[in-house]
Amino acid sequence: MKSIRVTLTPEEMPRKWYNILPDLPEPLAPPLNPGTKEPIKPSDFEPLFPKALIAQEVSSDNYIPIPDEVLQAYMIANRPSPLQRAENLEKLLKTPAKIYFKREDLSPAGSHKTNTSLAQAYYNMKEGIEALATETGAGQWGTALSLACNMFGLKCKVFMVRASYDQKPYRREMMRVYGAEVHPSPSTLTDFGNKLLKENPKHPGSLGIAISEAMETTVKSKNTKYSLGSVLNHVMLHQTIIGEETMLQFKKLDEQPDYLVGCVGGGSNFAGFTFPFVGEKLKKKTKTEFIAVEPKVVPSLTAGRYEYDFGDTAGMTPLLLMYTLGHDFVPSPIHAGGLRYHGAAPTVSQLVKHKVVKPVAYEQKEVFEAAMMFAKTEGIIPAPETSHAIKAAIELAKEAKKNNEEKIIAMNFSGHGLLDLGGYQQFLDGKMV
Ligand SMILES: *Cc1c(COP(=O)(O)O)cnc(C)c1O
Repeated sequence: MKSIRVTLTPEEMPRKWYNILPDLPEPLAPPLNPGTKEPIKPSDFEPLFPKALIAQEVSSDNYIPIPDEVLQAYMIANRPSPLQRAENLEKLLKTPAKIYFKREDLSPAGSHKTNTSLAQAYYNMKEGIEALATETGAGQWGTALSLACNMFGLKCKVFMVRASYDQKPYRREMMRVYGAEVHPSPSTLTDFGNKLLKENPKHPGSLGIAISEAMETTVKSKNTKYSLGSVLNHVMLHQTIIGEETMLQFKKLDEQPDYLVGCVGGGSNFAGFTFPFVGEKLKKKTKTEFIAVEPKVVPSLTAGRYEYDFGDTAGMTPLLLMYTLGHDFVPSPIHAGGLRYHGAAPTVSQLVKHKVVKPVAYEQKEVFEAAMMFAKTEGIIPAPETSHAIKAAIELAKEAKKNNEEKIIAMNFSGHGLLDLGGYQQFLDGKMV
C-alpha cells in the first residue's frame, strides 16, 4: 500500500503566520474614510476591532507568532490538515498530472474559516471584549465565529442574510448549538434594518446589508466588537497557516506544485493557501502559478473595476482599493453563497493587477458537474464554493493530458458541502440552470 496523504504531526504545525504586506509588488493603498475620503489612521478602527488585530492589519513584519492558545484551538479544529492526492480523479481523467487537495473541510465548522475566527475570538477575549457581532451570508462564517466565541467565552451576535436564514435552517441551528444569537437580516434590531423593512417587509437581505447591521450593532453596544470573515489583511494573515502547512507537505513529498488553485469570495482561503508561495514567487524562488476561481455571475476579478469602493451596501465601511462590481451589485442567487461578494481582498486584487495571480470564472452548472465527479471518485462532497476550485483543477489536468505533461496541481479544498445538499438536489433533478 502506498500513502495518498501527507500529514504533519501537531509538533510540526507552523508557529507563525506569513504576512505578505512587506513583500507585495507595491505598498498597499490605505483604506479611506467613507465621509472625508482621507486615508484612515489605524487607531480609527478601535471602535470596531481590538488593538492586536489592528496592529496585524498594518504590520510590516514578515512573520507574526501564533499564540499558544490559538495553536491549541487549531488542534481542536483538526490542524494540521492533510494534503491528499486525488488519484481516483486522476485515473478518471486519464491525466499524467498529479492532483492534490488541502483538507480544510475537516474543521468541525466545515470550512477554513475557523483559522481566523479562532484567532479573532482569542485576541478579543485577551482585550476584555465580551461579545462579537458579525454577518453571515450562506452561514459558514457565522458557524465558524460561533464556534470560536464559544471556545473563548464570548457572546456572538450573527446577522444572517434573510434568504439563507429561511433556506438554510441547519446552518442557523449549528450556530445556535454553539450558543450564538442569530438574527435574520434585515432585522428590527438596527435603524438600517428597520428602514429597509419599512420599504419592503419581505426584504431577502444581502451580505452588504448584514455587514451594515453588524457594524451598527457594534457601535451601539457595550464592550462589543465587530468581526469580519474575509477581505481584511489580518484575516488573510491568519489563513496563511494553510499555505505554510502545504509548503512543509510539498517539502516532504520533495515536489514543487506547478499550479495552486483556490476559489475566491472575499479571497481569504485563496490567500491563505497561496500567499506563502506567492512570497517565494515574488522573490523569484518558485515557478508556481496561482489561479483564482470565481463564479461567472459574480466576476469581480475577471470583469470588475480596480477602484476604491465600500465593503458594504450602506456605505458605512472604509473605502478599499480592490477589484469590485460596485457596492450596490446584486448577485444572482447561486448556491456558492460564500462567493457572492461584490469585491475581493485588496491584497489579492493587487496581485491580480500585477498579473501574479490569474483569475478565471466558471458557470454554476459546470461547477456542479465537477463537484459530482469529485464526490464520485474521492467520496467527499465539496461545498459549492470549493467546487469552483475543483473545476479549474480538472481543466488544468485535462490540459496536462493534451500536452502530455506531468504537471503538479494543488487546490485548496475550502469546505464540505454536507449542508449544501439543496444545490445537489437541484442539480440531480435537472433543475439547475
Ligand atoms: C466562505 C467560504 C469561501 C469564500 O470565502 P473566501 O474568503 O474567499 O475564502 C469559500 N469556500 C468556503 C467553503 C467558504 O465557507
